[in-house]
Amino acid sequence: MIKGFEPKISLGQNFLTDERFLRQLVEQTPLTSEDTVLEIGAGQGEFTLALAERCKNVITIETDGRLEKVLRERLSSAPGVRLVMDDVMKLDLDELMRGYGAFHVAANLPYYLTTPILNLLLHSVMPIRSISVMVQKEAAQRVMALPGTPAYGPLAVAAAYRSTPRAALSVPASAFSPPPKVDSVFLVMPCLDRPAVSVKDERTFRQVVAAAFAMRRKTMLNNLVKAFGFTREQALRCLSDTGLPEDIRGERLTLHQFAALAGSVTDEMCRIKS
Ligand code: SAM
Repeated sequence: MIKGFEPKISLGQNFLTDERFLRQLVEQTPLTSEDTVLEIGAGQGEFTLALAERCKNVITIETDGRLEKVLRERLSSAPGVRLVMDDVMKLDLDELMRGYGAFHVAANLPYYLTTPILNLLLHSVMPIRSISVMVQKEAAQRVMALPGTPAYGPLAVAAAYRSTPRAALSVPASAFSPPPKVDSVFLVMPCLDRPAVSVKDERTFRQVVAAAFAMRRKTMLNNLVKAFGFTREQALRCLSDTGLPEDIRGERLTLHQFAALAGSVTDEMCRIKS
């Protein structure tokens, strides 16, 4: 830890300081020496430097200005590293990464931003090859959850649509400084060349998924009526066209069923307009 530095829990500053785990994380990240990596949250720069040994470029973002001086000093020894002092949620990542071609994302995420960051990456049109991130164990469960289980939700659907997530490593709290109060998992998500299912319209697909989980205990029928302003008959037609029973709940739908249902919803909306 940098001498005299007071980590801010509000910024998720639990630094990974255990060398063994740093090495294992980099080994698990699917990188070659020609690759570019986007890191979110440089912290004290240890993971940044470990990544830089394995690939050509590392673009790392850090929001805490107190870390800038030390980071610039530490990272100056690694020519392929570019430090961007900014808030990842306010930056135009598309603009930042333009010119690097397809790239990987690797990060020991600030846990308070896990869902927004994963949503940002999974829904972006950027050419992302893989997303390898340290997250809280419960977040990893939400990313990998199967239909009908309590953790299943929009994040699992978005992850399965775009990638093949796996829990690569469990990391104990003792590997961090200060140790977090939660268990951590390093998730590796190689991104698919094209989405796992084809959808007619991505926006409608996302709206259908969001509607399914907006009120988990309600049927998909009721959620379609509410989210799309359909009559009961229109919503019923969407379900029956997809081969789904009228009492099904959204939380039971597979990725393929969501895609098919979104197709029927798109058709129904076109019918209403014409
Ligand atoms: N990469 C380092 C490591 O592995 O030890 C630090 C990881 S620490 C869990 C998360 C880092 O993300 C912190 O350095 C924190 O300051 C930074 N961070 C928090 N919010 C951020 C934001 N909105 N934009 C960019 N960085 C952020």
